Amino acid sequence: MSEQRLLDVRNLEVTYASGAAAVRGVNLSVDAGQKLGVAGESGCGKSTLALALLRLLPAGTKVTGEVLLDGEDVLAMKWGQVRAVRWAGASIVFQGAMHSLNAVHRIGDQITEPILLHKKATPAGARKKAGELLEQVGLPAARAQAYPHELSGGQRQRVMIAMALACDPRLIIADEPTTALDVMIQAQILRLIEQLVAEQDLGLIMISHDLAVLSDTCDRLAVMYAGRVVEEGPASEVYENARHPYGKALSAAFPRIGDATSRFAPRGLPGDPPDPSALPTGCTFHPRCPVALDSCTTEDQALRDAGPRHRAACVHAGAQLPAQPTSAPATAERTP
Ligand code: ADP
Ligand code: MG
Repeated sequence: MSEQRLLDVRNLEVTYASGAAAVRGVNLSVDAGQKLGVAGESGCGKSTLALALLRLLPAGTKVTGEVLLDGEDVLAMKWGQVRAVRWAGASIVFQGAMHSLNAVHRIGDQITEPILLHKKATPAGARKKAGELLEQVGLPAARAQAYPHELSGGQRQRVMIAMALACDPRLIIADEPTTALDVMIQAQILRLIEQLVAEQDLGLIMISHDLAVLSDTCDRLAVMYAGRVVEEGPASEVYENARHPYGKALSAAFPRIGDATSRFAPRGLPGDPPDPSALPTGCTFHPRCPVALDSCTTEDQALRDAGPRHRAACVHAGAQLPAQPTSAPATAERTP
């Protein structure tokens, strides 16, 4: 019998009511104490994946596959169970804490609310826990009295992390947790997340468009393109020795953590990820790929071995990638 994973996602597919196939056949797993980075440009399905794990997608969205959390399929749970799982099983830290915190309530009250609800704590017990959580994330317990607008962006993101930890979850999903912050604060928040994950033996899924940030923080990386995982492996391997041309372009685009010039658009990679309602045929990356073969326009590739515990969904993955020309590929369909 194989050991049970903390999180085991099997063949996850998400199609929005609009017809957008935003997540396609994703498999991934996280163990306690393990940090998985999910990379990809904006629009590749990272947030959709995160939201699907906790069934936070809008009504009318079709979700299939399995999301096994401690062996139990979140997608098959009754709503009462899902609500409990959202705090005590796995919780999400979003980008832009100002939008997630309620502006008219003191942050202490916002942290105690889930503790009262899900941990059946007394009001005094919940307040004490809230103070402890604030101290854990590097804020004085007395900041519980503050309103969100009285805190800096970095402090608010610390509060979001404290809230995510409120009900002792086993898994934290952090969706671009530092993207809105400046580089110094970004580094502090990343170190805080790493420290908490190590101390509490949590599983972590960290989502970012920035491969440098992920490779610095995570053990393993999954690179998403057009809703699929197109490359996965040990973080340093994927970052330094990407075997999918998309992974290679992302790692070239983010040579240093927080490189301001490359934060939003990978340099040297023309065009944009495809619209998930109108995906290209064959390998969905072929219109942007500098090393595409004719066959790539019609044949899609499954993940294949590209090194030790390293897989890539590219026809070239088994061999060393051909040198990539610096000019735009001849077949590029540029979006205006
Ligand atoms: P990422 O987080 O990687 O930027 P998202 O998961 O937010 O990507 O989006 C993936 C794709 O799904 C995008 O093409 C986006 O436009 C589409 N999408 C996101 N939310 C919705 C929605 N509520 N309805 C329809 N399409 C959506
Ligand atoms: Mg997103």
